[in-house]
Amino acid sequence: MNILLASNNEHKKEEFSRILTGHTLMLPKELGIDFDFEEEAETFSENALGKARALASQAPEGYKILADDSGLCVDALDGKPGVRTARYGLETFGRMLESDERNEFLLKNLAHIEKKDKRSAQFVCALAFVMDRRREFTFCEAVDGFIAKESYGRGGFGYDPVFIVKEAGRTMAELTEDEKDRYSHRGKATRHLITLLGEIS
Ligand code: IMP
Repeated sequence: MNILLASNNEHKKEEFSRILTGHTLMLPKELGIDFDFEEEAETFSENALGKARALASQAPEGYKILADDSGLCVDALDGKPGVRTARYGLETFGRMLESDERNEFLLKNLAHIEKKDKRSAQFVCALAFVMDRRREFTFCEAVDGFIAKESYGRGGFGYDPVFIVKEAGRTMAELTEDEKDRYSHRGKATRHLITLLGEIS
């Protein structure tokens, strides 16, 4: 199946390509499509579906659309940054931060919290898959974890160095690719999609 990913994020493409074996994944820019979407909804699933529909209206024939909206929900911050995870720090600094800066900002905001169980968080991934105009599917998954005291590991991207996966006891950046796919929010959500793809055609 040819799947067009409603994203400009090469890391997401890489992860989906590893998990969705047997399918061809493309980014809009690889087809010369200039894709941008304002994520303004209050839920991950609505944002993912909005992105998928927006790209579906621009996509050439023959492509199914997959969108991913992910984010970090930190319990001590009342579930924030949540759907605004990519823009974390924007209000404080007046500009979009780089990944490392966002991680530093998060660690600073939680610096007063010593106990590990008070630093609990979930990484959430909503997927929207648009088969055609009448068949749209959404899945939402999450992985439990804790925010580390400092960054650890060099793998992955984004918040991976500061998110300790509860089940693994290491940050996502310390996991191998296989391990990240096994535990991660995206891996879990994508396995629901794989089940769906096995059942429909
Ligand atoms: P979005 O889903 O593209 O809106 O991404 C939300 C934010 O979460 C961005 O800052 C991403 O870098 C970050 N993010 C998304 N997925 C992951 C992941 O698997 N690991 C670490 N950070 C991620």
